[in-house]
Amino acid sequence: MDTGDKRVDIDALLRLFTCPGCGNPANKPPLFQCVKGHVACSSCSVNCRGSCPTCRQRMTTERNFWMEEASTCIIFPLRTAATAADRNGVKH
Ligand SMILES: [Zn+2]
Ligand SMILES: [Zn+2]
Repeated sequence: MDTGDKRVDIDALLRLFTCPGCGNPANKPPLFQCVKGHVACSSCSVNCRGSCPTCRQRMTTERNFWMEEASTCIIFPLRTAATAADRNGVKH
């Protein structure tokens, strides 16, 4: 794996895409956002009963397409096997 590219802070990116509700990578669309713009993974958006895991304000049904697009550009170090099948065989 190529780890020589310093233009991207991978750790910071992975933190950005860590769901504040469950701590898993929020790397699968749809990603929903609250009225303040915080993003939670799709399962937390459902399970949080309408309140943002970050700020407790209202979750919306608006998807954050920017985060969704960005998440598809990242090969996440998967902690759960469930997400591996969704990546269309994209590998390093
Ligand atoms: Zn979550
Ligand atoms: Zn919020």
